[in-house]
Amino acid sequence: MMKRMVSGSDALVAGLAQLLEPDQVLHGPAIEKAYECDAYTVDRSPPFAVVLPRSTEEVCQIVKWCSEFGVPFTPRGAGTGLSGGAMAAKGGVVVSTKKMTQILELDPLNERLWAQAGATNASLSAAARPHGLHFAPDPSSQTVSTLGGNIAENSGGPHTLKYGVTVQHVLQVTFVDSAGVAHRIGNLVEGDPEPDILSLIVGSEGTVGLVTEAWVKLTPLPTEVRTLLAAFPSVRAATETVAKIVASGILPAALEFMDGRMLMALRQAFGLSFPAGAEAMLLIECDGNDPAKVDHEAHSCESVCRGRGALSVEAAETSEERARLWTARKKGIGAMGRLAPTIVTHDGVIPRSRLPEMLDFVYEVAARHGLGVANLFHAGDGNLHPCFYFDDREPGIVQRVVSAGEEILARCVELGGSVTGEHGIGLEKLDGLKLMFSDDDLSLQRSMRRVFSTSELCNPCKLIPDQRGCVEHMRRWRGAAT
Ligand SMILES: Cc1cc2nc3c(=O)[nH]c(=O)nc-3n(C[C@H](O)[C@H](O)[C@H](O)COP(=O)(O)OP(=O)(O)OC[C@H]3O[C@@H](n4cnc5c(N)ncnc54)[C@H](O)[C@@H]3O)c2cc1C
Repeated sequence: MMKRMVSGSDALVAGLAQLLEPDQVLHGPAIEKAYECDAYTVDRSPPFAVVLPRSTEEVCQIVKWCSEFGVPFTPRGAGTGLSGGAMAAKGGVVVSTKKMTQILELDPLNERLWAQAGATNASLSAAARPHGLHFAPDPSSQTVSTLGGNIAENSGGPHTLKYGVTVQHVLQVTFVDSAGVAHRIGNLVEGDPEPDILSLIVGSEGTVGLVTEAWVKLTPLPTEVRTLLAAFPSVRAATETVAKIVASGILPAALEFMDGRMLMALRQAFGLSFPAGAEAMLLIECDGNDPAKVDHEAHSCESVCRGRGALSVEAAETSEERARLWTARKKGIGAMGRLAPTIVTHDGVIPRSRLPEMLDFVYEVAARHGLGVANLFHAGDGNLHPCFYFDDREPGIVQRVVSAGEEILARCVELGGSVTGEHGIGLEKLDGLKLMFSDDDLSLQRSMRRVFSTSELCNPCKLIPDQRGCVEHMRRWRGAAT
């Protein structure tokens, strides 16, 4: 399409203001600063405006306008993404779903719910809970992260081990492609006659269009839940226990790991106490509807932990105690703020049996680069999250954090894993994909975008390496990080 030329960001803002109400177009230095990055703070690039549509129709208008004037646009939910996905790599407009938070229909008899993309993950489960149901994907950011962000990142969470990731819980989306045309994709009942385009959209990180609404599956809440918190004298003892539990024939609903540095942050930030000598903890949850079976699973997990040298295994008897045991896991990232002004959480995945050697490697890399690192992750999935803490005003330190992360991801690939477990590729890990895929593989992946549109205006420079026009941003990013 021929692009119409409008010069200067003032003229562009004036154009957007004709499409939307004044409170739906934000711009100016404070907005540029607030939206220059997501939770991956290493990489920054401001948009010239942020727009806040209320409906699918408004999203279509905005995208058509961007397409007409050749303006890049970047979908954004809560901005909790950890790989730079919601950052406007080539400037342009951020399309935020902040005003699209409605739950449109709850259908408990058919165990499904329809919501706008900006509804938070937690609000879906809150709406479903009175009917004994919930939305099973539960990223630890769930109180703020959005349905649209969860779909775009195919998010997981602590209970992914048993219940699966987002793609297994989405039935249908309303989707605006990068030409501004709305589509309904997927079906509300089993037996799809069409190609599985929905699976291409889930996990596409906002690079092929915007999800504006979605029907999701609801999962019955288990009636029986047993939660254990096991303390170990060493990281190795805890990480060796992870694969042993699953190999014993038990699939816990959640199996989470925290190391001693994370426990120290939690003590400092929230005054939490842990058993003396604890250098690592496993949080283990078993659930189901048969009390005897769930008891048996919890006892089996406890005996595996004790057999591997656990110092103590605390079991929750009530829902209040369960919430208390989860406190440490849920508040971990927040507590890191006590250790340093900046944190970068990396994300990789390996077969769970390789966790012990991988953690040794993570500590070795951190020490070699002179960096502090704490670990808290979904151990049952082998999904590690080394969390580096540092002061980004120290010259050269950001480059060391980036290099350390790259070494860790390369080792994940060597150990038979992947450069991302759940946080996506975004802009952060474009180079990492080349460790996993040949040029031909990547070229096939790139052609996936063409199913939707050939426009490169939609969230450019993300997910697929070697897009035209993104070299400049990559150079700037590398430059900023040195
Ligand atoms: C403390 C903390 C804990 C976390 N825990 C987990 C975890 O346990 N599991 C996990 O998987 N992740 C986790 N994350 C990462 C992050 O929360 C998830 O990726 C989440 O799904 C992002 O949602 P969001 O609404 O913040 O999306 P954003 O960060 O705003 O966007 C993420 C990506 O989705 C795209 N996008 C957003 N909305 C739409 C839309 N409507 N249509 C199309 N594309 C869209 C954006 O362009 C971007 O590429 C965590 C992050 C933090 C900060």
